[in-house]
Amino acid sequence: MQVAKILGVPFTTRGFEETVTHLTARIAAGERTHVVTANPEVVMVARANPRLRAILDQAYVVPDGIGIVYAARWLKYPLRERVTGIELMTALMERADAYGWRVYLLGAASEVVRKAAAELGRHYPHAQIVGWRDGYYRKEEEEAIAEEIAAKRPDLLFVALGAPRQDEWIHTYWDRLQVPLAMGVGGSFDVWAGAVKRAPQIWQKMHLEWLYRLLKQPSRWRRQLAIPQFVAAVLWEKWTQRTESQG
Ligand code: UDP
Repeated sequence: MQVAKILGVPFTTRGFEETVTHLTARIAAGERTHVVTANPEVVMVARANPRLRAILDQAYVVPDGIGIVYAARWLKYPLRERVTGIELMTALMERADAYGWRVYLLGAASEVVRKAAAELGRHYPHAQIVGWRDGYYRKEEEEAIAEEIAAKRPDLLFVALGAPRQDEWIHTYWDRLQVPLAMGVGGSFDVWAGAVKRAPQIWQKMHLEWLYRLLKQPSRWRRQLAIPQFVAAVLWEKWTQRTESQG
């Protein structure tokens, strides 16, 4: 499979449906996968953080955000569409429902994760929600939480601690957890719990979901400053690639 290297981060070029099929096949084959949904902010953090870059090098990185799709296009990679965390989580839950997979949820406020677990259980009655835990624990509790998750033997582990902390968490406990598939899902439990609404379809279609989130949560502006920096860095990479190939 071709990988789209964007500012050093290797993204899978599979489309959404292909990604879901591939991940399901990997689970069936006993291959373990750490899925990272990376947007331009994550890529920019990784540029300055070698530890995160090393995690992304080993993970299955999917393009979460239209910024990544455009960047891939500019760099002439065959990456067609975004694969968002919330949509991938939903598609994996459909598979969990079909195959009776075990699911564990870690992260978000305690009321949020409890509600998300209840909603998911209601929507996907054949998926087994084997446990959940909020993401506001003390550092000393972390190892015990990882042990508890391992003991529950989930097939899917969704971690909502915000990026990139959720992916560092999965990486730290990877060997101990032995879960077939673990994925950081950012604010997805808040959406499932009904605490946060996704942008209306029309905004999503126009690729303006980032703007909707900014208007709803203006405190995100500082993080979203990474987007113009990302665009500048990608254009620079494209330009230097071109001059290298000409030279
Ligand atoms: N969160 C958490 N523990 C923390 C900080 C954050 O569980 O110490 C949760 C938070 O409640 C939310 C999620 O992590 O459910 C992060 O959501 P956000 O939309 O900020 O995700 P991002 O955009 O960073 O991926």
